[in-house]
Amino acid sequence: MNPASTEVPADTDIAIVGAGPVGLALACLLLRKSPWRLTLIDAATPARASRDPRAIALSYGSRQLLEQIGAWPRAVTPIEHIHVSQRARFGHVKLHSHDYDVPALGYVVRYGELCEALERALAQAIQACPAADGERLARVYETRIDHLEQSGPETAGLVRLSGHAHDRQPAALSARLAVQAEGGLFHQQTTRAERGVQARKYRRDYGQTAIVAHVACSRPQPGWAWERFTEEGPLALLPHEEHGTPGYALVWCCQPDQAARRLALPEGEFLAELEQAFGPRMGRFTGIGKRHAFPLGLNAAPVTVHGRVVAVGNAAQTLHPVAGQGLNLGLRDAFALALALRADCGPQALQAFAAQQKLDRAVTIGVTDLLPRVFGVSYPLAAHARGASLAALACLGPLKDTLARQMMYGMRR
Ligand SMILES: Cc1cc2nc3c(=O)[nH]c(=O)nc-3n(C[C@H](O)[C@H](O)[C@H](O)COP(=O)(O)OP(=O)(O)OC[C@H]3O[C@@H](n4cnc5c(N)ncnc54)[C@H](O)[C@@H]3O)c2cc1C
Repeated sequence: MNPASTEVPADTDIAIVGAGPVGLALACLLLRKSPWRLTLIDAATPARASRDPRAIALSYGSRQLLEQIGAWPRAVTPIEHIHVSQRARFGHVKLHSHDYDVPALGYVVRYGELCEALERALAQAIQACPAADGERLARVYETRIDHLEQSGPETAGLVRLSGHAHDRQPAALSARLAVQAEGGLFHQQTTRAERGVQARKYRRDYGQTAIVAHVACSRPQPGWAWERFTEEGPLALLPHEEHGTPGYALVWCCQPDQAARRLALPEGEFLAELEQAFGPRMGRFTGIGKRHAFPLGLNAAPVTVHGRVVAVGNAAQTLHPVAGQGLNLGLRDAFALALALRADCGPQALQAFAAQQKLDRAVTIGVTDLLPRVFGVSYPLAAHARGASLAALACLGPLKDTLARQMMYGMRR
């Protein structure tokens, strides 16, 4: 597809703002399962995704969803076992895929490779549209939407979206529904009342920044992923092959000043600190790729639907990356929304979507908010209590299974 070729249409049924993985998955699903005309708008071109350094852990449940739309990426590294522990404390939990009758608990994939798979699936979905339907999808690149305004009665109203293209030319269109899938980067500005709702977002600054990089070690353990809670924050090592080189995707959450210092360290010193924080389970850390930093925080809207506007994925909830849940929940958002919009393109369908996703959101936001805070308390007694909880969890099969299934499928069972 040529990024510069598509003009902004004057009107559409559903405007999707943001062609990240959640917006792309939603567009694929709506093309396949609904009759609506779609406009998918992104501030960047698809090349942005290929530059994103994140390696994402997709759950087994997300694999099932992505396979439904032919968007399962080619290069994934399976996670067959997960080891959860505290640094320098007793107590750990191990999860194994064979305990849950699944080939893998999850899979690690580059953000860009996932987006490429979704782009291919979208191209196939376009080809599969009957010619009689005309052009069902308009793609608009390098156009930033920064204003949404709703007008008219509930039943026949419209959303006016406006913004500007990269050359500063103004851009605007009308839609029957607008989907915010822009990753939480702008807050919708609609009526005064809706601004009030937006102002009461659940926010938390964890005082943590994630360092992300690809690392190699001397004793890799294929199929094992490690989540280690340190006093600074969780440290995850996910098995991940990069350009044919086996290794691990590191997500090391630490205080922002420590993250800035570590980013600037020479490679050897960085690896020595990593070894100190992670321990000797995989031998020595022997190499590291380019390091990147992501500031972390919780930013979730209590209500994701306002009349004819709905937020999904990170636009609805940006989570702490502990346990790798953000995109998995975002994909479940996209699938639930597409289901609700199969035959109805109005506010009632959006309300049905919000009701359907409410529990899944609440539980996933709750768990990912609780973990970094509980494990961030540094009193010795708290550390012992957490160790005892991990040891108990390892013994309490039903509780461990409930947690594992929540991480794999959310509330979609
Ligand atoms: C360090 C780190 C590790 C993570 N690890 C995991 C993990 O292991 N598992 C997991 O499930 N999740 C993980 N996540 C979370 C995951 O990355 C996000 O949940 C996911 O990227 C959200 O997808 P999205 O499509 O909603 O938004 P995004 O990926 O942010 O995409 C948004 C898109 O919208 C476009 N856009 C932005 N603003 C505008 C605008 N105004 N107008 C038009 N277009 C716009 C952008 O160009 C972009 O293409 C991690 C996050 C971080 C930071």
